[in-house]
Amino acid sequence: MINKSLVIAVAGNPNSGKTSLFNQLTGANLKVGNWPGVTVEKKKGEVIRGDIQFIFVDIPGTYGISARSEDERIAMDFLTKERPDGVIVVLDSANFNRNFYLFTLIAEMDLPVVPVLNMSDMAERRGIMLHEDRLSAIFGIPFVKTIASKGKGVSDLWEVLENIGDLKKPFRLPIYPEMVESVIERLMNQFSKVAPSRFQALGILDGGILTPENEHLRKTVTVLQSELEERLEAELDEVIAEKRYEFVYSVAKECVERRMSTEQKVALTDRIDRFVTNRYLGGPFFLFAMWLLFYLVFAVGNPFADWMDRGFSGLASLVQGQGILTSFVREGLISGVGAVLVFVPNIFILFFLIAIMEDSGYLSRAAFVADRFMHALGLHGKSFIPMLLGFGCNIPAVMAVRTLENEKDRVLTALAVPYMSCSARLPVYLLFVGIFFTRYQSFVVFSLYILGIIIAVAVAKVLRKVFFTKAVSPLVMELPAYHVPSIKTAARSAGIRTAFFLKKAGTFIFGTVLIIWVLASLPIGAEYASAGSVIGKIGSAVAPIFHPAGFDSWQAAVALIFGFLAKEVVVGTFGVLYGGQTALSSALGSQFSALSAMSFMVMTLVYIPCVATIAVIRREIGTQWAVLSVGISITLGYALAVLVFQVGRLLGMG
Ligand code: GDP
Ligand code: MG
Repeated sequence: MINKSLVIAVAGNPNSGKTSLFNQLTGANLKVGNWPGVTVEKKKGEVIRGDIQFIFVDIPGTYGISARSEDERIAMDFLTKERPDGVIVVLDSANFNRNFYLFTLIAEMDLPVVPVLNMSDMAERRGIMLHEDRLSAIFGIPFVKTIASKGKGVSDLWEVLENIGDLKKPFRLPIYPEMVESVIERLMNQFSKVAPSRFQALGILDGGILTPENEHLRKTVTVLQSELEERLEAELDEVIAEKRYEFVYSVAKECVERRMSTEQKVALTDRIDRFVTNRYLGGPFFLFAMWLLFYLVFAVGNPFADWMDRGFSGLASLVQGQGILTSFVREGLISGVGAVLVFVPNIFILFFLIAIMEDSGYLSRAAFVADRFMHALGLHGKSFIPMLLGFGCNIPAVMAVRTLENEKDRVLTALAVPYMSCSARLPVYLLFVGIFFTRYQSFVVFSLYILGIIIAVAVAKVLRKVFFTKAVSPLVMELPAYHVPSIKTAARSAGIRTAFFLKKAGTFIFGTVLIIWVLASLPIGAEYASAGSVIGKIGSAVAPIFHPAGFDSWQAAVALIFGFLAKEVVVGTFGVLYGGQTALSSALGSQFSALSAMSFMVMTLVYIPCVATIAVIRREIGTQWAVLSVGISITLGYALAVLVFQVGRLLGMG
């Protein structure tokens, strides 16, 4: 059964966790005796894994291996004379440099070495992050992270041990001056019995391991040493130690990252929170953060959006000629779906920044700040989290109401969420502000988002008055410590959500746009996308309703009708009906004024949740509420659009 037997030494600094690790590896199978000739305890344990018998030996803790103390001599002798089949070097990660020094010594012993980064919990608490992957890359052997006292990482260690035969063995740390290297080589050649390895030759030079049996070398060694010292103009042992430390520092610089300790983090979090969640400053800070969010959505996203725009225009100009297929590709595919896709960069940035806010811990602060305000309105502050998530997409936001404890909060929040301006509305805003509000783009979009919040909260407040009366419980919320958000995580999360958006554009939005294109091409003989087409007739029948809101073109009516399926479709519809970007801009420019553009954006924001959101509302809180949600939003959206337009006109803006 047992194919081979391997002796593995467990080495390391005192208190690095050797015994704990040894116990984890061996369980109860250990023998305790003494090291030969001394009273120092010797622990041995046997374990059989597969067809290999492992014999672990817990050797005394040492800082070096120059045999200057009894413990060091035992450890040293065991490693150099008994030559185990491998050495586990247990390192206290919280004191990396000192522990790693020992590793550099053992690493030169010509034995398979398995470095273990123990005490990783302590290190983390002190804000010390070890990059085991970089260490592994530098040394070409796996570094295993463990918490020996809890048995964590031990199975990873087993995996390495079971394949210990595959480990790269001798290291030559590139650290000593060339002349030291040449003397090392000379020693190894001339005295191969006492200096069979580079490590031992180095030890002899270092002056530490001249034991009785190599006493006869003293003279030769002394000569070599003084020769070297003369040329180096320094003490040899100092040079060697110094070079090792330099090496340790350079490795630490690459592989050890110092972050804030838990206590420092808590202290800093408190300090930031005194400002960010301050009774008076918290609200303004939230508004500022939101404004900054949209500023960046434009500042960073627009150049990319422009590229995409030019790309689609270029594509459209390639598609020449008449014919039904050409028309479909040009009007339907490129103009319709393309009109939505040009805004992908802005949408990606929005998702990215929301993820950053979430990851940094700020989003929970926003809910906390909102609590006071929400409370005054009879809502739970925790409701604010689903609402803020609604900025990304209303669907997961409605699902998030499940996290609220009581029925009333769940219902009110689910009914409030659809007014939060989701990313599907963003293309509509982007399209219109790009034409009518070029100078104040981010401010206008920011205002629409704030308007969304105000409507959401107001709707919840009124509904509470009508349907529920009981008082709200105060918000007890544990605010997580801030931490530097991970760009990678945020980018990945934004990538996933953007991919979802793209998929939606490629399937659902594309399908809807296709239907609009078909309806715009029928009946045969009618001019494409004219008032005489089927779609034109549908739009014209509905359009007069919107006259009081300032937009009564049949195209706008069609856009709103189909926008019920998904709000991106509003943009897609305009694309299909008006053609590519340039045509689209000039058509909208003549059909809308800045004022009616504003009322149209308000309408888009409020007038109805998309069909998928309605389905989720129905699933989460029931059919009657979903019907109510639709009824309220249609009424409110229309009323607000009319209000914006009429008030604007009275003020002389239209
Ligand atoms: P040795 O001197 O190297 O044999 O170290 P021990 O195994 O005796 O461990 C020293 C102390 O550190 C003991 O109290 C262990 O419980 C504790 N310890 C060992 N490993 C860990 C670890 O990974 N994390 C923490 N927090 N404590 C550990
Ligand atoms: Mg011990």
